[in-house]
Amino acid sequence: MNLINKYVQLICIVLLLAVSAVFLSSSIGISSIFPSSKEDTTRIKTGDGSLTEPGKSVPAANAFPSDSNADISPGEKSAMKEISRIVAPDIQGVIGRNNTVYGKLISCGLSPTQIFNLTRAFDKTFDFRTAAPDDRLQIFLAGNNQLQKFVYSPDPLLEYIAERNVNGGFTVSQHDLIPEKRVEAMEISLDSSLSKAIFSTGEKQRLVDQFVDIFSWDIDFYLFPRKGDRITILYEKYFLDDTFIKYGDILAARYAGQNGTFSSFFFDGGYYDKQGHPLRKMFLRLPLKFGVKTSGYSIRRFHPVHKKYKQHTGIDYGAKTGTKIFATANGKVIFAGWKGGYGKVIILKHPNGYQTYYAHCSKLIAKKGQFVDQGETIARVGATGVVTGPHVHYEVRINGKPVNPSTIKNFKGTPLSPERLEKFRATVQSRLLLVEEKTLQNSEGDKLVLADTPE
Ligand SMILES: [Zn+2]
Repeated sequence: MNLINKYVQLICIVLLLAVSAVFLSSSIGISSIFPSSKEDTTRIKTGDGSLTEPGKSVPAANAFPSDSNADISPGEKSAMKEISRIVAPDIQGVIGRNNTVYGKLISCGLSPTQIFNLTRAFDKTFDFRTAAPDDRLQIFLAGNNQLQKFVYSPDPLLEYIAERNVNGGFTVSQHDLIPEKRVEAMEISLDSSLSKAIFSTGEKQRLVDQFVDIFSWDIDFYLFPRKGDRITILYEKYFLDDTFIKYGDILAARYAGQNGTFSSFFFDGGYYDKQGHPLRKMFLRLPLKFGVKTSGYSIRRFHPVHKKYKQHTGIDYGAKTGTKIFATANGKVIFAGWKGGYGKVIILKHPNGYQTYYAHCSKLIAKKGQFVDQGETIARVGATGVVTGPHVHYEVRINGKPVNPSTIKNFKGTPLSPERLEKFRATVQSRLLLVEEKTLQNSEGDKLVLADTPE
């Protein structure tokens, strides 16, 4: 008896579903058969760019066998198309390393003829030869592995959508996705390292890099950070359907530690301290991003290789072989090659009689005679010449005489004009208020969570 009841219930549900499906298809069928915009596509998180091919889900369109087209009215056809548009793709993933779009599509079971028709449709829109391993694609199939729709994203904010048209070919359209900008703030203290502190809030390496870049003229991130130092960041994040896409600008940042307090505010495309002085200076503090200072500048030190007292004319920064070495200031390459104990070295010439040396490199990237910008990668860390391990020997000379890189006078850029300074001050005030408001929100949020926790 019970079993029969269940059976009757099941039949009722099936009937109800069938009726609503017919109703739904006829109501959607009236809408345009042309792709309108954003809502046409189902967006999929691809996470870290690894190949994600979920098990094949059956698209709604498959519920209608495509080989019985004769029984289906044009209205129903477009309804099917609409339904196929809002379902999840049959296959999704990234191109992958050492693969081509063609190879990927073949491995997804598409026929060479279908792929040829598809790529021909893309001719004027996107050149698949420029495909990158982490470009994403989505494949929507009808019966017989017939390609219905193809979505290609060379960028998280860009989609090319190819849809089968009445001629049996494909029509390709471009969709620029507009991310939503959110402003967030953090106020944290360092425990072991800057990266770990920022990671602890759930943020990524890219934000650490942006923060380090802002203070690269003032803070030596090898030497400065101490346990208990506090950092504050007001920053922009971009989201697409709640999926994080990228960071925008850091609007304000502060580093308050044992070695000093530094503030920075983003204004008119550049960073300024609280008084409106640009942070950009002639020299960066360091020729590389992260590493360990292994030997300082000294007039006399015991040389580990030569086994005698020698002056050390620069600062050594230990880092893994291959780590990028940056030009600390704009300049011209006057030497790029092998020079005795320096091994492979780059020498840059700067204004006011300054020269900088980057020695023991594994690879030289900048060429003699080339002009390089501050922060540009000019070589890679190595262990060439007289060394005990991989590091970059960084040396600064004035008129040929070595000087201590950490005490050189660092020329500042011109401060803001009085009119812009007024606008700048207003910006600073509003940013500070925003930081206060955001971090207060966060701490109140914490309290709320704590209050909800049962004792
Ligand atoms: Zn050295």
